[in-house]
Amino acid sequence: MRVLTPTTLDEALEMLAGASTGWHGRLPTGCTSGGTQEPRSEPRRSELSPSGHVAPHAAPLIPIAGGTDLLVSWHQQPKDGMSLLDLSRLGSQLQPHRLTDTELELGALTTYWDVTSSPEVAAAFPLLVEAARLVGAVQIQMRGTWAGNIGNGSPAADGVPVLMAYDARVVLQSRAGQTEVPLDQYYTGYRQTVRRPDQLIVAIRVPRRPREREWFYKVGPRRAQAISKVAVAVVKDAAGWRVVASSVAPVVCRCRHFEQALADGRTFQTPAEIAQVLAADISPIDDIRSTARYRATVLSRLLYYWLQDRQAPQ
Ligand SMILES: Cc1cc2nc3c(=O)[nH]c(=O)nc-3n(C[C@H](O)[C@H](O)[C@H](O)COP(=O)(O)OP(=O)(O)OC[C@H]3O[C@@H](n4cnc5c(N)ncnc54)[C@H](O)[C@@H]3O)c2cc1C
Repeated sequence: MRVLTPTTLDEALEMLAGASTGWHGRLPTGCTSGGTQEPRSEPRRSELSPSGHVAPHAAPLIPIAGGTDLLVSWHQQPKDGMSLLDLSRLGSQLQPHRLTDTELELGALTTYWDVTSSPEVAAAFPLLVEAARLVGAVQIQMRGTWAGNIGNGSPAADGVPVLMAYDARVVLQSRAGQTEVPLDQYYTGYRQTVRRPDQLIVAIRVPRRPREREWFYKVGPRRAQAISKVAVAVVKDAAGWRVVASSVAPVVCRCRHFEQALADGRTFQTPAEIAQVLAADISPIDDIRSTARYRATVLSRLLYYWLQDRQAPQ
């Protein structure tokens, strides 16, 4: 295993540019064994070309931020041939967040804790705080990053649905330049994304607009330290409705037919009517945490009772 530890963003992008094209965006699975060497803290000079590029290597170069996703399956992963791009020394460039009148920018190393401990961000984007407080425990919140939540691509992510509901954009950077991808177009399939092997997520940008509605709800086996069985985030702002379901389908996704129904002013008399509309948006999954039927039922009920509450006289 090799660990490359760039000290500047430029150096990190050079390393990614020089690395193999055999990238899949996650740790390889299904292999049987590997070495257990400890990660080195510095890149081996022999892996760098005279220009500073990383010599082409058979293994993909995997960015590691907080490591709270990557290390979960560490013991099952083959280490031979594994290459990590350790981002930990890029804090000065990638950790700060910036809040202006028009947007919030989270650097790629911004943690959940950075957000929950900022009264300004909490006031401007309350759903980020609600979701962050439900991610693992404090230890995970202090290490885990928003970009890592996006990069991991789990269908049960809790940061992704609130960011998507807030209409966030993912800022990708390579040596060729910077590009922005709306988060709702970032995933192309189960743990598949549009990010190229030479690109790094460097920031997440969230527009700051007046909002009429915002809501996040996570259903897990218990209220804390639990992976979502079903989660939903809803925002209505000047750009319209965004209703995002997490832990329901193979990717966190918007429920566009349901959003359109809300925009049309449709009202629902029963959860089953909502379920009917949602059936055009998502194909729920069966997995170890719940069944497709449970997910479809719970999602429609959550939305139905939330809408009921919103319609009730104040
Ligand atoms: C005990 C425990 C409880 C947890 N509870 C929850 C929970 O309740 N809800 C939840 O959503 N998650 C949970 N997680 C998962 C995890 O903490 C989050 O997904 C976290 O946001 C991951 O961030 P990280 O910085 O640790 O990512 P890492 O593990 O460092 O990376 C995760 C993935 O993102 C990629 N990546 C990281 N940074 C970048 C970048 N800048 N550019 C491109 N790719 C990048 C990595 O290559 C990797 O594929 C839990 C994890 C643990 C261990």
